[in-house]
Amino acid sequence: MKALQYREIGSPPEVVEIDTPEPGPGEVRLKITAAGVCHSDEFIMSLDEEQYVYGLPLTLGHEGAGVVDKLGEGVSGLELGTSVAVYGPWGCGFCYACSQGHENYCENAADLGITPPGLGAPGAMAEYLIVDSSRHLVPLRDLDPVQNVSLTDAGLTPYHAIKNSLPKLVPGSTAVVIGAGGLGHVAIQMLRAVSPATVVALDVSDDKLQLAREVGAHHAFHSDDSAIDEVKALTGGLGATAVFDFVGIQATMTLGQAMIRVGGDQVHVGVGSGSLPVGMLDKPYEASVRSPYWGYRHELFEVLELARTGAVHVETEVFSLDEAPRAYEKLHAGELRGRAVIVP
Ligand code: NAD
Ligand code: ZN
Repeated sequence: MKALQYREIGSPPEVVEIDTPEPGPGEVRLKITAAGVCHSDEFIMSLDEEQYVYGLPLTLGHEGAGVVDKLGEGVSGLELGTSVAVYGPWGCGFCYACSQGHENYCENAADLGITPPGLGAPGAMAEYLIVDSSRHLVPLRDLDPVQNVSLTDAGLTPYHAIKNSLPKLVPGSTAVVIGAGGLGHVAIQMLRAVSPATVVALDVSDDKLQLAREVGAHHAFHSDDSAIDEVKALTGGLGATAVFDFVGIQATMTLGQAMIRVGGDQVHVGVGSGSLPVGMLDKPYEASVRSPYWGYRHELFEVLELARTGAVHVETEVFSLDEAPRAYEKLHAGELRGRAVIVP
């Protein structure tokens, strides 16, 4: 089968021919219908030899959807041909975290060597994908796989981040989204769908600010110090109730801290190298800082329901598997609108 692989540190990913995998006991093989391109792929491909821990060659793709194609020994309760999305942060299934569907925080994954597809295990940018357990499949039903595959990460990750701040996002609150790219443009729609907050988007690109407005941001400003005054002006000088940072570099984290209000939430989703001072003298009082990773298994069902009602959609640019390297070039250049999706 064809697959997009990262093969050599520092080199761009390549389309290669590899053996079609067979499902082992308990596993499920999907025929891939769509796979999403995430900035995290670019991040891991930017790491040097010492930092890179995902194995080579690595078939990319941690956002996957497909149809059930073949069942490994002992798998039952799944019908061939069923259209599914893949829950990516695989856990052991037995620990306390996994028992609650919090497989992204599995207590045993690291020790057992369990890694997500495309971030250690072979990923979804291929004609076929092996999923380790039917537990990690969520039925897509009527949802189009190409339009919705990215909800498995670009939807689930912001949803999880936002859900934990919902008690603070009351009427009169203000939520700031930094970075209106793949995750951020979905975050804006989710905030509009599940909260009464005023939604402010910040980005460095005019095109992304335009996209942010189109998908529901009440306000969109350039991501620089002037945004602090804009947010303060909108909030009677108090600042933002929550800042969701989908960039995570020092500049955006410092910016976020300068605009958060007393008791607010600063949530860092972007995998940048920024960090923050947190202490009694680092105002504001009672602000909380979180760095969430992906989301819970049941939350993916909730995200797909949001898509079903039409409240949330993903702006997609579609590429074939042969064109996949081009999708990464466009991501790197900041030229994608929403998410690139690979269709084998
Ligand atoms: P993307 O490239 O699609 O979007 C990034 C956006 O940030 C772009 O619109 C870009 O213009 C904007 N941006 C860049 N610099 C900025 C700045 N200084 N201020 C404001 N905006 C700026 O990326 P994506 O796929 O949406 O991923 C976003 C981040 O989230 C990445 O760092 C990715 O690795 C990370 N991520 C984290 C998790 C998690 O579980 N925590 C999951 C998925 C992705
Ligand atoms: Zn991702």
